[in-house]
Amino acid sequence: MKKTSLLFLALIALISSAFIKPMANEPKPITVVIDAGHGGSDFGATSNGTYEKVIVSQIAEKVKSLNVNKNIIVKLTRTSDELMTLDKRTEYINAIKPDLVLSLHVNSSTNHAKSGVEFYVSDKSPFFEKSSEIARKLNLALAKNNSLKVSDTKTAPFHIIKKSEAPAVIVELGYLTNDYDKKYLTDDNEQNEIAKNIVFFLSELK
Ligand SMILES: [Zn+2]
Repeated sequence: MKKTSLLFLALIALISSAFIKPMANEPKPITVVIDAGHGGSDFGATSNGTYEKVIVSQIAEKVKSLNVNKNIIVKLTRTSDELMTLDKRTEYINAIKPDLVLSLHVNSSTNHAKSGVEFYVSDKSPFFEKSSEIARKLNLALAKNNSLKVSDTKTAPFHIIKKSEAPAVIVELGYLTNDYDKKYLTDDNEQNEIAKNIVFFLSELK
């Protein structure tokens, strides 16, 4: 073989290795559990025939179907209107060993003026720091939606965020007892916007 063709082959090998390398360094997929709160005979918050269990399930399904990123695996604790104990949920979560758990809920209050999105993490969890960081990032992602009023993260001893062996955040997506919140929580387009922002937030996770 001529010296020039050898040089040419060497060059080709160098270029192809440059293209192969990033493939080998592809990021490990991130597994996320989206936990739709309540279900079955447990309706969660209710308001004139509107149920928390239905709203959070609709948004969880939307997150799963809107996610097209192969590096993000979305798992749902429930895919139907079934009663699922908190223990069963954390059993499922801890068997999967996800990178992140988002438990979706909707609030209610006797004070009908109360509104907005709230985040909860557990300071009893060894993943408290990471959970708080995730809550902060999710807060920013959801605040992009002008329909939502997001508030700071609070700590609470709720089962899912305390017993999950992974960073875990409870997201209360709004108050069903507040007219403004109820409108966006039950609107298909607004639900899509919320789900899109959650998917965007997931895609930004490292
Ligand atoms: Zn709830």
